[in-house]
Amino acid sequence: MRELQDAGYEAFIVGGSVRDLLLGKIPKDFDVATSATPEEVQAVFPRCRLIGRRFRLAHVRKGGALIEVATFRGSAAAGGDHEKSNGRILRDNVFGTVEEDAIRRDFTINALFLDPVSGEIRDYVGGYEDLAQRRLRLIGDPEVRYREDPVRLLRAARFEAKLGVMPDESTEAPIRTMAPLLKDVPPARLFEEVCKLFLTGHGVRSMEALQRFGLSTSLFPGLKKGSGRGKIQLGVVLRKTLENTDERIRKSLPVTPAFLWAALLWQPVSDRSRALVEAGESEYNAMMSASEEVIFRQGQSTSIPRRFSAVTRQIWIMQIRFQRTRGKRWKRLLHEQRFRAAYDFLLLRAMEDPSLEPLCEFWTKAQEGMDFSRNSLKARTDRKSRPRNRYRRRAPTS
Ligand code: ATP
Ligand code: MG
Repeated sequence: MRELQDAGYEAFIVGGSVRDLLLGKIPKDFDVATSATPEEVQAVFPRCRLIGRRFRLAHVRKGGALIEVATFRGSAAAGGDHEKSNGRILRDNVFGTVEEDAIRRDFTINALFLDPVSGEIRDYVGGYEDLAQRRLRLIGDPEVRYREDPVRLLRAARFEAKLGVMPDESTEAPIRTMAPLLKDVPPARLFEEVCKLFLTGHGVRSMEALQRFGLSTSLFPGLKKGSGRGKIQLGVVLRKTLENTDERIRKSLPVTPAFLWAALLWQPVSDRSRALVEAGESEYNAMMSASEEVIFRQGQSTSIPRRFSAVTRQIWIMQIRFQRTRGKRWKRLLHEQRFRAAYDFLLLRAMEDPSLEPLCEFWTKAQEGMDFSRNSLKARTDRKSRPRNRYRRRAPTS
């Protein structure tokens, strides 16, 4: 900031990081907004990289940190080079003043500008007072702002969950009726939002907020509707998964979108595969087809990258394979990569369906005496990496 200011530009820390600092939380990153154009930023920091096509930003490296430096942007209200379709912003490529940059942001608490050199905070929208009152308020006319970018509906739920701020009447009222707009948001962007909602430590509260705002059915149209508009039925598996995920994050343990999706979509996938079994399919084939269908359908709303959905399907299919406990072949399952995740999933299912308890006991016992240490893991990867003919016949024993 000082270097930009010394070169004659305005420069502030903006957005979530200022908000988090004022709330006494440690920001996970810092965004910078400046009056300098990307080329001018590059003149100040010759080694920075310019990125982005829709809106160009400078990535500046300082003391090991990567800082995103954006030029002030004009708002739709300020006119300029904007393109809208049905009220939705498709393009906003115009530079603006600091004040214009403030009013094009979403919520007032996200529109504070901090000058760390002077210690001054610029507040053009009443965000400071809203933050003090723990109030979430959209800048401008809420209906217009939600229509411009329906992801703001989800962001309202997320900030309520994450920060404990409460939306004011005008911000909350339109959410329920505008929820269907989410179907026009690119699925990849919704996938990102789902991860931020459920995999950053406040998943239980995010789900509560989505339910209260009636946003859940728009995000997960394949799930059974609950009582109340826009609500879904929350099964034990899903509720427990959200709780456990929050707990893991508190303990700094890793979490994966694959397990989350396995839990989110368990109700439709198990219903569908049961229907296929009743129609005469084998359990295994039924689960294979059901999982493909359910993931495909969810993909129309929120994309699920293949690297995650492949694991989600493995977790589901293992639920069928767990049932085969006779003979010796069950032992192989213990060595499969997804065994642990699938076993954890089985335990969650048993909380809902006590008839699964004997199966849980079997697999709990089966692991006794197993060596999960590093060497045995290594031995397993070595075995896996060897090319193998899947259809090789076993050598006849003489
Ligand atoms: P967090 O990083 O905790 O998710 P954040 O507020 O920093 O919260 P980002 O998505 O990182 O959220 O966005 C940074 C800033 O950009 C926001 O604080 C807000 O000012 C602005 N912004 C982000 N998304 C939108 C949006 N959809 N509409 C308008 N402004 C937005
Ligand atoms: Mg941020």
